[in-house]
Amino acid sequence: MGELKRQSHGDQSDWDSLLAVSEEFGELPVEAVFKEDMLRQGIWFADRVLAPEGDYARKSYFIFSFDRTPLKDLGETPKVQAPEEIRVEGGPRDLAPFVVSVRLNPNSPYLVDVGSDAEGGCEIFLAGQTVGHVSFAPTPSYYGRETSDGTPLVEVAPSIEWGYLLYLTVFRMCQYFGRGEECQFCDINNNFRQQREEERIYNAVKPLDRVMEALEIIEEKENRSLAYTLTGGSITSDLLGETEMDYYVKYAEAIEKRFPGRWIGKMVVQALPLDDVRRIAEAGIRVYHPNYEIWDADLFEKLCPGKARYVGRSEWIDRILASTDLFDPYCVIPNFVAGIEMAQPYGFTTEEQAWESNAEALDFFMSQGVLPRFTTWCPEPLSVLGQDNGPASLRYHVGLLKFYREAFERNNVPDPLGYGDVGLGRAVFSVSSFMDVLRPESERVQKGGSE
Ligand code: SF4
Repeated sequence: MGELKRQSHGDQSDWDSLLAVSEEFGELPVEAVFKEDMLRQGIWFADRVLAPEGDYARKSYFIFSFDRTPLKDLGETPKVQAPEEIRVEGGPRDLAPFVVSVRLNPNSPYLVDVGSDAEGGCEIFLAGQTVGHVSFAPTPSYYGRETSDGTPLVEVAPSIEWGYLLYLTVFRMCQYFGRGEECQFCDINNNFRQQREEERIYNAVKPLDRVMEALEIIEEKENRSLAYTLTGGSITSDLLGETEMDYYVKYAEAIEKRFPGRWIGKMVVQALPLDDVRRIAEAGIRVYHPNYEIWDADLFEKLCPGKARYVGRSEWIDRILASTDLFDPYCVIPNFVAGIEMAQPYGFTTEEQAWESNAEALDFFMSQGVLPRFTTWCPEPLSVLGQDNGPASLRYHVGLLKFYREAFERNNVPDPLGYGDVGLGRAVFSVSSFMDVLRPESERVQKGGSE
């Protein structure tokens, strides 16, 4: 094969800093270090690996943009042909497979391009040096189909996590509007606008009938999906005459009535009063996600002004804990967005301060059986914080994985439900590495207390 020219960014310093972090946290697999770095920095693709005829799942923009660049500034090929996720494995370090959600960034030091070995195929390069072989997310068997009103199923019910999870964003906007209310790291409303400006089919509201019709087709054609997430923006007043609870719970009720137990039902809504949460549990939802986003009290006020004003931090926390009367505590899984606590001008200025805050949150919840999880922040330029901030340091993100695993094992919490397998080489959760670094229970028992 002749010499291939690659348009790679970055230099040896990218490798030096990555290897230094990997050495500092030597108890964590290097795969998790690469994955966190790809999530925080985004990745880029050579046009030649994004063939229109390629059989793989394209990026569906399932809720936020999760890109480091607005759509209008992306080239036509990546804008349309970028995959939803990639899986990296092998390479010079013989990496175990890990799945990474695609966050497009033309300036990333990570480039997916044609590989240099004789077998062909794609590889991912960091500053021009091979990290590992790459495969693209497989196409779910129902992609390409439409509901009877002509809506593509990929718009109604995209699959992520390598096909494990159906992602049902049934309200693609949020009623926390503008700088004074929106969570400052979130681009849901601006992403909706940019999708519409691109003239994509991207509906604010997904009618119940359409979702149910899509699930009928999926149920018939797709065996891989094992869970669904019902989610969308907050509803502070009403949406089409319904409260947040009335709006979201009707989907759960209909799905569980028609397909009882077929999938593990998960719902992301605000921390709601107990009577509302009871309706979620009674509908058959198994996992409740009242996302607290950030732990520190001052930062919560500044970064989640809408949640702070409408519910308030201490009430939010009380409601999370109260919901354990209705769900198994480990099935109450509030998310936090890892990295926003280091964004300026408000955030912590050292990793140690941020870890301390995270560790306090993890022990507070896990000691009561609640199982927080995190996603790795993508500083989207259409969000308030993402306009002026890059990502948190790789050292912060990898250190957080260590704190997370230690808290998880110390508090003896069961594996999260609805996330697929835990463990290196098995995890499919693609927007952080927390599932990759959790050890299977058999290894935990053997190693318990040794750290
Ligand atoms: S509640 Fe916050 S994070 Fe959730 S959609 Fe609204 S603005 Fe975004």
